[in-house]
Amino acid sequence: MSLVFKISKNPQSKIAECDFNNIEFGKLFSDHMFRVDYENGEWKTGEILPYGNISFSPALSSLHYGQAIFEGMKAFKDTNGKPQLFRPLDNFERFNISAVRMGMPEISEALFIESLRQLVNIDQDWIPTKEGSALYLRPFMFATDDFVGVRPSNNYSFIIFCCPVNSYYPKPIKVKVEEKYTRAFDGMAGSAKAAGNYGISMKPTSDAKKEGFDQIIWTDGKEHKYVEESGTTNLFFVLSDETVLTPALDGNILKGVTRDSCIKLLKDANYNVIEKHIDIEEIAQAAREGKLIDAFGTGTAALIAKIETIAYRNERFELPAAEERKISNWLYKKIGDIQTSKIEDKFGWIVKI
Ligand SMILES: *Cc1c(COP(=O)(O)O)cnc(C)c1O
Repeated sequence: MSLVFKISKNPQSKIAECDFNNIEFGKLFSDHMFRVDYENGEWKTGEILPYGNISFSPALSSLHYGQAIFEGMKAFKDTNGKPQLFRPLDNFERFNISAVRMGMPEISEALFIESLRQLVNIDQDWIPTKEGSALYLRPFMFATDDFVGVRPSNNYSFIIFCCPVNSYYPKPIKVKVEEKYTRAFDGMAGSAKAAGNYGISMKPTSDAKKEGFDQIIWTDGKEHKYVEESGTTNLFFVLSDETVLTPALDGNILKGVTRDSCIKLLKDANYNVIEKHIDIEEIAQAAREGKLIDAFGTGTAALIAKIETIAYRNERFELPAAEERKISNWLYKKIGDIQTSKIEDKFGWIVKI
């Protein structure tokens, strides 16, 4: 079922200018990108072309009304240097969930997966191999009608570009429990990876940064009582009896692929993982009693972002040192080893290019 795309090779590779040991996240782009347009109710022929600027009308409807969704995933090399993707079918499924919620057209599995494979194949020399590094892939779709009227767009573009990246959060982070703003509310689009969800998070996050924090912990919009996510990562807490708690997917929480990988690996190793509504008081009380032994965010970019400090109202809870975090260190290593095929992929998560 291999789809045929138009291919225009980049005559001037930039790879020689790239220092793979020192990459700033999201600033360096590989030589090629993929693009396919949606017109008259169907996806046209896709194209792999040199990475570069694209030009649109000022009336581009996604800029005004926000029909824009994206995915974030990674390509790795196995121990023989062959390129591979980690759980791309999960990103594909989530992409269509986001598309449906935002009134945008769905994309076929063949188009999503083949475009990724062919793009990564062409740019496979851009996959860094240092531990914790990868080729970050950014598939996204946005409305392209030149029309300033409120209705779903008739035309869309789907594009994928690639960024070589090193690990995202090198240090454990300080977070603050946010009780004023909220990320998502019942009936909104919290389970869609929609650009607007990020737009509304910028001010609360930069306010927290001014107070010396790296990220916020979102709480529910009704009572600001239940924890939801940390910034743009899913949240996990570990109690001293090694019970692992994570907020249940209730429609307001993004269904993270890394979250799911952590849950499956933990359950497979016989840990007690509980998905439920987590009252911030339960976490605070555990921390006060010295029973909160680990807390971390999970996401494709960071993989595991260990939390060192949680600020809640006028209390500050300091967590054990990073080296002592048995569970988050184990997960980080385990997932990294599966992604690079250093260990067996018993869940079938790897797709070879
Ligand atoms: C992308 C994202 C995550 C993490 O999802 P992964 O599939 O693990 O990368 C978590 N929360 C939000 C809000 C996100 O947008």
